[in-house]
Amino acid sequence: MSMIFPFDNSYARLGTGFSAAQAPVKVSAPQLIAVNRPLAAELNITLGDDDQMAQVFAGNAVPDGAQPIAQAYAGHQFGGFSPQLGDGRAVLLGEVVDTHGQRRDIQLKGSGPTPFSRNGDGRAWLGPVLREYVLSEAMHAMGVPTTRALAAASTGDPVHRQEGKLPGAVLTRVAASHLRVGTFQFFAARQDVAALRQIYDYTRARHYPEAQTPGDLLRAVIGRQAALVAQWLGIGFIHGVMNTDNTSLSGETIDYGPCAFLDVWHPQTVFSSIDRNGRYAYDNQSAVIVWNMAQFASALIPLMDNQDRAIAEFTEAVNAMPALIEAEWLRIFGAKIGLADPSQEDRPLIDDLLGLMQAAEVDFTNTFRALARTDASDTFEQIDGFDAWHARWQARLTREGDWRARMNAANPAIIPRNHRIEEMIAAAVAGDFTPFHRLLDVLSRPYTDQPDAADLTQPPAPHEVVRATFCGT
Ligand code: AMP
Ligand code: MG
Repeated sequence: MSMIFPFDNSYARLGTGFSAAQAPVKVSAPQLIAVNRPLAAELNITLGDDDQMAQVFAGNAVPDGAQPIAQAYAGHQFGGFSPQLGDGRAVLLGEVVDTHGQRRDIQLKGSGPTPFSRNGDGRAWLGPVLREYVLSEAMHAMGVPTTRALAAASTGDPVHRQEGKLPGAVLTRVAASHLRVGTFQFFAARQDVAALRQIYDYTRARHYPEAQTPGDLLRAVIGRQAALVAQWLGIGFIHGVMNTDNTSLSGETIDYGPCAFLDVWHPQTVFSSIDRNGRYAYDNQSAVIVWNMAQFASALIPLMDNQDRAIAEFTEAVNAMPALIEAEWLRIFGAKIGLADPSQEDRPLIDDLLGLMQAAEVDFTNTFRALARTDASDTFEQIDGFDAWHARWQARLTREGDWRARMNAANPAIIPRNHRIEEMIAAAVAGDFTPFHRLLDVLSRPYTDQPDAADLTQPPAPHEVVRATFCGT
């Protein structure tokens, strides 16, 4: 039986100003690495045999009903504006409506050059493809809004990067949409108000049908992004390239590049090799997302008749964002220490624990997970001042009900640790996909203690510490 995708391609119907028709470019020897069967079922996709899937997911066969396009967008990269970026190494095959009635994009990433490639080769190598596959699925399992991974296929063609000659691969990515802050910036920068209005109507209809005005849309996106970034902070996630083209309007985590999880909690942690000034450090993410929302607000201004009033309204919305993030942060970190309804008065209890953890350089994930255990005193012996903090905490917990269960649902037992991801990639490059499949399996149950995966929960030994991560572009 051949593969069936029930495509309905609303973005392609917007017309030529929004995208460029671009088929995926054929590769030499497609091979299927992985397919996400539960996700395919959710998307109402009928899969085929391994060979058919390899052809489709490497881009050699375009399924019936697809209308492959490269989407246009702009973006601020590390603060500098590029009026034209666009899909330089990805094509949107089309959209399907899932079993929940939600429209979802199906995109091939690494599928060859497009009119937006500039000097790039349009390709991806195996490492970043598997990294995004594992990380995005792990984020989903942790309950964080994110794009998903439907499939990975190898191309049989080498990709040339700084690191040398590497095996090529294609990721099939699923997103609520690929609408970005940069999508609006693309039209605003061209002062193409008609197209801007079209994309505004499209975004509202697709994601925020309740929004009546550009201000409503701005506040809705701000709400989702505030919640998203607070969730990142709660699990120690560092996106690494929070450029406005990598900030999704649906509120999903998108464009996994040099992202990483911190081991020791330190607010200024940076892994990305290209983030030399720490613009996208762990703790800066809440300030950066506010800045990105200010850019989104600017791109909405041309839609407004009264610009002065628009500026006042949008400024107020953006200025309200830090308090939204703070409220989400307090709720999330409160839950991490077992509090159902934390108030500002609980903030010192949380901050003091983080401070003690930072000074003792203990593992962020494992320390929070251990707090709810009864047999973890060895974990806390390393933390100077822990006993005094513990007494305050216990006193506060007398007002809480089932705090242990709340903590175990808020503190993952296992995260995709950087050194394990690097190890998995090295094995895959050598032809062994066992670590990839094992990570995927174990990370699908992040809030469950899994004694047989103890090796994956350990922080890196000194020689295993990953100091820098790369985009792989
Ligand atoms: P990113 O920082 O990965 O989100 O990418 C920023 C921009 O560079 C986007 O327009 C990408 O499409 C483009 N890009 C990244 N890698 C490549 C590549 N290998 N070939 C062509 N364009 C690329
Ligand atoms: Mg990007």
